Amino acid sequence: MREDAGNGCYDGGRSREDMFGECHAHIFMDGVNYREAVQRHLHGVDDRVIRRHFKMYREKGITFVRDGGDDLGVSERAREIAGEYGIDYRTPIFAIHRKGCYGGIVGKAYENMKEYAELIREVKAHKGDFIKIMTTGIMDFDTDGGITGEALPYAEVKEMVHIAHEEGFAVMCHTNGAGPVADLVRAGADSVEHGNYVSEETLLMMAESDIVWVPTITVVANMFGCGRFSDELLHEIYELGKKNIRRALELGVHMALGSDAGAYLVPHGQGLLDEWRCFQECAEDEDVLKARIFEGEEKIRKKFRFF
Ligand SMILES: [Zn+2]
Repeated sequence: MREDAGNGCYDGGRSREDMFGECHAHIFMDGVNYREAVQRHLHGVDDRVIRRHFKMYREKGITFVRDGGDDLGVSERAREIAGEYGIDYRTPIFAIHRKGCYGGIVGKAYENMKEYAELIREVKAHKGDFIKIMTTGIMDFDTDGGITGEALPYAEVKEMVHIAHEEGFAVMCHTNGAGPVADLVRAGADSVEHGNYVSEETLLMMAESDIVWVPTITVVANMFGCGRFSDELLHEIYELGKKNIRRALELGVHMALGSDAGAYLVPHGQGLLDEWRCFQECAEDEDVLKARIFEGEEKIRKKFRFF
């Protein structure tokens, strides 16, 4: 414990002045234009992009970054130079999705469990810090905010988590929807990313489990007024998201901050502060909120690393 325990000591010995870690980022994307971001690394990783983004984290005092992966080798390269910026950086190397389902923008596909297991071995060969899987689509902002595509069946998710755990990896899951998130809890997954549209029942299950929820809600707020999507729909989704975060905090769900930095209109560094502002709207006592977030983040720091 630190000496100033009386005026603000949190889990892991962190004080209220300490900065949060960014628990969900994509170092290869720039928050502006996905296609152009990919182009920059197509003929080899462009270190300048990584360095620019790490500088943005440094400027905000952020020293922990967990990446969501990419299929261009960018996050793998980023891990090699993160130390120069004093950043503890974790990467799944690439994310894994079922062929034909959502996930091509950040990773590699499998068609059966044999291929999935091969991808896990590939992550291991590259010393990935954890496994990232995609079990559902994304929010469809173009229409009604529903979730695109179909969720993977429970049996498949369970098998995927099991195989990854057997190999010693924690599992980060890109998942939306009450049923699919409940499936993750049942499967013993370690973190749920986004997790839009969770229900009371699912939140109760999450609260009783060890799973950490990283809502990345600022992705929605940062698009207000951008003109690409309906503001009415965005505000509706945002309010619902905050309601769920509020309830999750009440119930004791483990939570951590991640902004999906690199996604459209979410800058590296600033994105985490944006996510924090959204969370501030979801709790009365800021000190208690900070302690809760540090607690969830600590779980991530401990589990999501290559052993
Ligand atoms: Zn992401």
